[in-house]
Amino acid sequence: MDEFALIRRYFTDGGVMRADTVLGIGDDAAVLRVPDDRQLVVTTDSLVSGVHFPAELQPDAIGHRALAANLSDLAAMGAEPAWVLLALTLPEADERWLESFSEGFFRLARSHHVALVGGNVARGPLNITITAHGLVPSGQALMRKGARPGDAVYVTGHPGDAAAGLKLIQSGHGDTSNDCVQRFCYPEPRAAAGIGLRGIASAMIDISDGLLADLSHLLAASDVGATLELAGLPLSQTLLASYPAETGRHLGLTGGDDYELCFTVPNERLSELHRRVADLGCEVTRIGSIETEAGLRLRDEHGNLKGTDSLGYRHF
Ligand code: ADP
Ligand code: MG
Repeated sequence: MDEFALIRRYFTDGGVMRADTVLGIGDDAAVLRVPDDRQLVVTTDSLVSGVHFPAELQPDAIGHRALAANLSDLAAMGAEPAWVLLALTLPEADERWLESFSEGFFRLARSHHVALVGGNVARGPLNITITAHGLVPSGQALMRKGARPGDAVYVTGHPGDAAAGLKLIQSGHGDTSNDCVQRFCYPEPRAAAGIGLRGIASAMIDISDGLLADLSHLLAASDVGATLELAGLPLSQTLLASYPAETGRHLGLTGGDDYELCFTVPNERLSELHRRVADLGCEVTRIGSIETEAGLRLRDEHGNLKGTDSLGYRHF
């Protein structure tokens, strides 16, 4: 199968038509319409086989994860996803692999009304690079900077699940009926939450490298510090059923790949957050507070304060 037949067969009919796609796949470049009152938010992310996912992971999960990683970055900016480009490097044109990969990719694309408007195909070691474009009302993008002392720190969903799922897969117990395995294979980017938190969150980041690592980026960008309450960490029942409490907590604090959002909310907007929580599409849990003193501290269930290093976490 040549490159053009492959593109036609697996990537031109994703089923998402958008009125603002002036020209999609097939020309030298796509033409897209951005409304006057919106700003374009653009991000790119690569998934490398053996680095970001096990080479033998089912192809539909690879397609889903590659797109999810990019949609999560848009969500973290408060942007509504609109268009994506897909650059694929493949060792061979394996039709069963491509069928499954494109099915996983387009299932997620359809559920977020995202149109694939172009890309590239090349031969080489498996690598999936996606560039995603989203829209945000001008001036309303949420950033890593903006957190202030006194703001509450929140997280969506159940951090640690995806890392637990990957661990289960790697130890040969990756049964797809396990919720943690599902979270690793098919993470749900928090698009509705990102959009719903415009005007409420003072700063936001998505958790791709682990809660402590990514929250630290937000703290550095905002020039503040924080204390987290370990007892308030929303670890899932499945995570706690699969691993001892200490391992579960470690995964919740340091495990990557969850694509949850971590955000801060000023006290005067907490009631608005509670009013809007039903529209966010996921649970949100308060896990700590922003402070003037730089750095990240953890308070255990006995009220003792610890630095993140004292617990033996290696995360940076
Ligand atoms: P060019 O040589 O002008 O870059 P290509 O031959 O690489 O064009 O691609 C032809 C068309 O197919 C372009 O519109 C391109 O965006 C699109 N395309 C290529 N690869 C993909 C892909 N993996 N998914 C979606 N569209 C693709
Ligand atoms: Mg090209």
